[in-house]
Amino acid sequence: MERKDNAKLFECEVNKRKQAEQRYRTLFEQSLDSILVIDPKTLLPIEFNDRACQELGYSHDEFKKLRITDHESTETAKITRKYIDEIMLEGQGILETEHKTKDGYKKHVQLAVNVIELNCNKVLHVIYRDITQYKQSEARLKRMVDELSRSNRELEQFAYVASHDLQEPLRMVASFAQLLTKRYHGQLDSDADEFIDYIVDGATRMQSLINGLLKFSRVGTQGKEFTPTDVNVVVEEVIRNLQISIQETGAKITYGELPKITADTSQLIQLFQNLVANAIKFHSDASPQIRIEAYHRDRQWVFSIHDNGIGIEEEYLDRIFQIFQRLHRREQYDGTGIGLAICKRIAERHGGRIWVDSVPNLGSSFHFSIPDKEGK
Ligand code: ADP
Repeated sequence: MERKDNAKLFECEVNKRKQAEQRYRTLFEQSLDSILVIDPKTLLPIEFNDRACQELGYSHDEFKKLRITDHESTETAKITRKYIDEIMLEGQGILETEHKTKDGYKKHVQLAVNVIELNCNKVLHVIYRDITQYKQSEARLKRMVDELSRSNRELEQFAYVASHDLQEPLRMVASFAQLLTKRYHGQLDSDADEFIDYIVDGATRMQSLINGLLKFSRVGTQGKEFTPTDVNVVVEEVIRNLQISIQETGAKITYGELPKITADTSQLIQLFQNLVANAIKFHSDASPQIRIEAYHRDRQWVFSIHDNGIGIEEEYLDRIFQIFQRLHRREQYDGTGIGLAICKRIAERHGGRIWVDSVPNLGSSFHFSIPDKEGK
């Protein structure tokens, strides 16, 4: 009876092993990756799936006579040997290299190597995957990013030089036109007075546009190092700088405890100042009520400036961050349409972004994020 039970157990065990072997075989043969078992001494394959030889363009018979050093294309046989010795000691390794196909093409491959025991011998179990396409896309993407940053730098430089060099002749036009008004107002006919006023107005306006453009290009070209910055101090300074318009409009600005972050302090002041100045400028009939808040989310600080002003229609929520985009005529609200474009560049230079949500006639909330460099 006992012997019968043992025989059954044995048969059961054999079946289990057969099934396990079958499962491994299927995985081995059907795998989309190349799988090889390699003798670490001879470097010849002991076993390999069809994918392994097809991938490099060899027949089964050809492939079994190839040492791994024969299709390795980046490293010399000596270095490959050294890697293998290291892996034999450490038990495993992941590496990237290049393989040579039978007809001479190179393929980028990623290898996962494990040391396993086969018939009481230590052998290398290697799984490798062709990552040529991935590498090519990566290189293409890198080239594009490099090209984009180069052309961005050039554009930035161009905007800087153009706006800087235009200032001088423009100053001349504006000051001589002003001199004309001062000296000859009322001495020429009324048309002439009107025309000179237009010249003064146009030149002054162009000066503020060019100044804005200069400020805009300076965000990239003349940014300072990022240093620890107490946002409470930044906001205090902004309130001091905006004292006159705060008094004129009766604006009330409140804020809770704000964090210390790593930033270009003067750019952060500029960013807050533009947003708070807008919150004051675009007020409704009620006097401006402005609330500044900060919260921490996904390793970044998000700052919000809420106002109870005129608000913005939904269709313009993205457009207002573009340079020179304004929603009002100068007679209604003064400005050049550059403030928010500067805010966007500053937030992006810090690795963050800026956005707004708003309800027309109720108010707007401008938000910007700055990554928390301490990574809490
Ligand atoms: P500017 O203030 O010189 O017009 P900005 O770039 O700062 O330029 O703003 C662009 C436009 O976005 C403004 O003309 C205005 O229409 C809108 N805007 C900005 N901030 C607010 C705000 N807090 N409330 C309502 N509209 C705003």
